[in-house]
This record gives sequence, C-alpha cells and structure tokens, in this order.
Amino acid sequence: MPRVLLLLPTTTYRTKAFIDAALRLGVEVVAASERASTLEDKNPAGLLTLDFVDPERAAEQAAEFVRQHPIDAVIPVDEDTAVAAAHVARALGINHNSVESAYTAKNKHRMREVLSRSNVRVPRFWHFTFDEDPREMAAQVSYPCVVKPVFLSTSRGVMRADNAEEFAGAARRLEAIVTNPEIARRGGAAAREVLVEEFIPGVEVAVEGLVTGGEFRALAIFDKPDPLDGPFFEETIYVTPSRLSESVQNEIVATTAAAVCAMGLSRGPVHAELRVNDEGAWVIEVAARAIGGLCSRALRFGGGITLEEMLISHALGRDVGGIEREREAAGVMMIPIPRAGVLREVLGVAGSKAVAGIEGVIITAHVTQEITPPPEGASYLGFIFSRAESADRVEAALREAHGRLEFIIE
Ligand code: ADP
Ligand code: CA
Ligand code: CA
Repeated sequence: MPRVLLLLPTTTYRTKAFIDAALRLGVEVVAASERASTLEDKNPAGLLTLDFVDPERAAEQAAEFVRQHPIDAVIPVDEDTAVAAAHVARALGINHNSVESAYTAKNKHRMREVLSRSNVRVPRFWHFTFDEDPREMAAQVSYPCVVKPVFLSTSRGVMRADNAEEFAGAARRLEAIVTNPEIARRGGAAAREVLVEEFIPGVEVAVEGLVTGGEFRALAIFDKPDPLDGPFFEETIYVTPSRLSESVQNEIVATTAAAVCAMGLSRGPVHAELRVNDEGAWVIEVAARAIGGLCSRALRFGGGITLEEMLISHALGRDVGGIEREREAAGVMMIPIPRAGVLREVLGVAGSKAVAGIEGVIITAHVTQEITPPPEGASYLGFIFSRAESADRVEAALREAHGRLEFIIE
C-alpha cells in the first residue's frame, strides 16, 4: 500500500477531505501536525510531529521518521505547510516543488520580484519595513494602492488606500496585526515587511490547477462575482465554469502558466488569483496549494472523483491528466463575517438548505466564538455549496441561501 505524508496543521479544515480520499484510494496516510498527538505512541507509523515553523528542523524530523516508516509522497494541505513540505521532500528525495519555488510562492514580495523580472503582468510594487517612516512610504507610492503583509493569507492585513492619509492608517493597522505574538512568530523577519502594490481594477477570478513536470494544467476557473474593490477584500462567492469569454479564459490560463513557470513550480497543486481588465490578465498571486477551507467540495471530477483524490493520486505519480471537472456548474460561498463580536445564534439554516440548487450549508463558526472580519480576522462563518445547470443559477442560489441566514452577533 502506498503511503502519503499529509502535513496537517491542527487548525486546518482540510483533514477530513484528505483522509476520506485516501480511504477511497486505498492509500495509507501518515498525518503530520505541529503539535504532538496523545495517540502518537499507539500509532507510531501513522502519526508524526513536525515543526512547520522551522522547515529545516521539520525535514530532519521527517528523515528520522522514514528510517523506520517509509513514505512515497508529501502533501501540504495548505499554504502554511507548503514550504515545510518542500524541505521534507528534498530531505527524503521525493519529487516535489523545489524549496526555492515554495519560498517564492509563500512570500508575496519575492513572488512580485520573480514575476516582474519574467515579464508576467503584475502590479507595480514597493517594498518597505516597519522601521521606515510611514509618511515617507506614503510619499513614494502611487494611489490607489493596496497595502499588505508578505506572508499572510485569507486577505488578512490586505487594505486599499486611496491617498497618503489612508495609507498611514492602513500601515498602522497592518503593523498592529503583525505585532500579534502568534503572527509575529510565524512570520519571523517577514512580519516586519510591508508590500505596497498599485491597485488593479477589474474582475477577479481564481484558477485551480495542477503542475506536472513543470507543465501547468487548469482544472477550473472560478468567477468571483462580488466586487472586490476594498477597502478590505473578504472572499465570498466562487462560481465555475467562468462566464468570461473563451479568449479571456485562455489568457487567464496562459498567464497562470507563465507565472508557474517563472516561479519554478514543477509539481503539485496551484491556486492562483488574477484580475482582468482592458490591459489583460494580471497575477495577484499564485499559491503552491489547492483551494482552501471546505471550498474543494465545489469541485468534482469525472465519475465523482474529489479534488483530494486527484491530489493524492497525482502526488503518487499516477496519471490524472485525462480527468476533467464534471459538466455541471458549481459554486461555494465563504460566508463573510458582517461585524466583529461574539456569535450568539445562527438562524435560518434549514430554510437556507431548502433553496433549490443548494447542496449544503455548513456553519463552521461556533456559538460563543469571538469573530473578526478582515483585515484582522482570517476566518468565515461557514460555507454554502450549490450545483445547478448554469453558473447564473448557482450564483442566484448562493445569494438566496445566504439571504435566509441570520447571524446574531453581540
Ligand atoms: P492573500 O494571500 O491574503 O489572499 P492577496 O494578495 O491575494 O492576499 O490579496 C487578497 C485580495 O486583495 C485579492 O484577492 C484581491 O481581491 C485584493 N488585492 C490584492 N492585491 C491587489 C492589487 N494589487 N490590486 C487589486 N486588488 C488586490
Ligand atoms: Ca495567499
Ligand atoms: Ca489571495
């Protein structure tokens, strides 16, 4: 039985989907987490602790482990473990993205440098550290701009500024976010860096794909039909297939492929975000991981195969090149947090599930939980899933189902 090492941070939502996929494929899982499990002694071949924040140490720990318990593939389930996975794979001699390419995908400033050098269309950018005077930063950049950290995800700390005054406010707010001890520890030196980019107007899409031997293949393009014009950029609706014209979709895929190639990503999943306007397709980012949260449920492939089954098979070197997404339209809404507070009650779930075309409504926030919208927060209230005969129907169903939910926040 082949064995895959899954890098599963304790906070991830992705565990069940991967374990289910491994069971269906008859693949044995080794689950690595950053915190020791009390079950580790009882299952020494299946559980492992890896220091995700110190990837070199994680690689040593994994090398030690495989002396007794060999593994065939390494899969990071999210962005925070992608760099550690590259280090682990290198130490174990497993074919994987290089450590360098994983760093490029993880650090937004490095990604901008690599892409602009390779003439991939990216926003103009400026790079600072918090040791510099925000007034001087504000004088150097152009407006409107986007202020962001280089190492976080889920739009955390990403803010639009239309003038120097807003810039100063955004910079202060970002510094407060990255000074949080837990975040600062995760970021290390990168937590002191500020990336500022020209704001790119236009429609936004997400591209889900797989890289094999350096060749990028798109599995799905998702439209993001809610305007993402700031000042903050919380994700909401994803719908596939895209309703953009075929030529625009081709340009999106070609631009993503060029970015993947420039970044040196050679193998595994890619989740990219691009904006499209009259000038063409612009890369916002390319992450060396699959779509996050529970969103992968919106994707289903020939004969009902899940994205995680595709990812595990692909990581084991099996050919998934001919497997296509189902024909039906599908979508997901990441339920946004309307305001900060304590979640007291969620109403209307049954009515929301009853909307035609809705396949599921999953509330992941729990009652009594303190919830925070972006830019400080990095979570959602839950997820709504839809399948229907057209993307328009999917989008309408998601909006209707969301409208029936009521969140009591104190
Ligand atoms: P994260 O890694 O946290 O998702 P991103 O860099 O992808 O951060 O930014 C989050 C969102 O902010 C993007 O999906 C996009 O909507 C918006 N955004 C980021 N940078 C720009 C930009 N230069 N121009 C316009 N919108 C942007
Ligand atoms: Ca990201
Ligand atoms: Ca993003």
